[in-house]
Amino acid sequence: MNVSTITEEIRQRALSLGFDLVGFAPVLTPAHALFFRKWLEQGFQGEMSYLARSADARCDLQQVLPGAKSAVVVGLNYAPAVSPVTDDPTRGVFARYALGDDYHEVMQQKLEQLVAFIRQQYPDCRAKIYVDAGPVLERDLAWRAGIGWFGKNTMLINTRLGSYFFLGEILLDIELDYDHPTFGGCGKCNRCIEACPTGAIVAPYVLDARRCISYLTIELRSAIPEELRPPMGNRIFGCDICQEVCPFNQPRPHAPLRSAPTREPRFAPREVTLAPRLVDLLRLGEQDFREQFRRSPVKRAKWRGFRRNVAVALGNSRDQNAVPVLQEQLEHEEDPMVREHLQWALERCRQAG
Ligand code: SF4
Ligand code: SF4
Repeated sequence: MNVSTITEEIRQRALSLGFDLVGFAPVLTPAHALFFRKWLEQGFQGEMSYLARSADARCDLQQVLPGAKSAVVVGLNYAPAVSPVTDDPTRGVFARYALGDDYHEVMQQKLEQLVAFIRQQYPDCRAKIYVDAGPVLERDLAWRAGIGWFGKNTMLINTRLGSYFFLGEILLDIELDYDHPTFGGCGKCNRCIEACPTGAIVAPYVLDARRCISYLTIELRSAIPEELRPPMGNRIFGCDICQEVCPFNQPRPHAPLRSAPTREPRFAPREVTLAPRLVDLLRLGEQDFREQFRRSPVKRAKWRGFRRNVAVALGNSRDQNAVPVLQEQLEHEEDPMVREHLQWALERCRQAG
């Protein structure tokens, strides 16, 4: 079998495993390596020091898999059938990607099946799977593999599907038949920049993660800067606003798949992630939190970070009915960081009276 036939078979196998997008790229120096290093120099990564630590490997995939020649890049749609967004300020909003089971496990399982298939053709080939965690500039690889193009919100956009999809990669030490990098662009649109409530998109294609609600609610371990709390509204884990406003996520007659519901049942929303009452979330004990978010991406925030986020949202709700719950929680809370956020929320809810 020649290389293009094998590549096509891998593509078909990936699609039959449920991936929505599949592409192939040669392993080269990432086109965005300099941009990434400059971004790091400006400190936009905040507390995500692992990004700087792994910068060399991210910019040189030979350090990750010596002899790497090809990357198989896949995309898996996670758009939910129902929107998690609610205008009710007493209820919380989770980012779409976090409504169901953890994508790392789902993607890893499917990619392992794909590697097994590749090894039927190339029994001795070396392969390395990456889902988000590894030192790979994955959006750069995905762009090169024809999966999508960079939007001004820094997300990778597929003209047919939109931007609600996970990326995963398999690095291989074999040659394959490569796709072309993706053409596409935002044109004069600036909707995401205008809609971002915290001003985190500081220029087209440049995200200051330190201001981004996704970073503040998931990655940040310490206190959320006070000036950034009010614009967070009721977003308690991640944020999709710059994707929600993007025209490429609005279905059109010529692109009905944009934001079409995922086919992966494990990404279905849990009851606790669909517009839950903030006061109920604040009352979750550590054990309850673990149970509700077992095998969920939400556990990354950890219980204390999650309580901090919920406290901020409650403060923004200005809900007087939350006052007794906040008081009760303050009585038992020992963590100074969480206490400070509860106190902040309590004052705002009381002021509203
Ligand atoms: S995720 Fe939210 S906070 Fe972050 S850039 Fe997008 S709109 Fe702004
Ligand atoms: S909202 Fe507009 S500017 Fe932002 S990523 Fe989408 S198309 Fe590009």
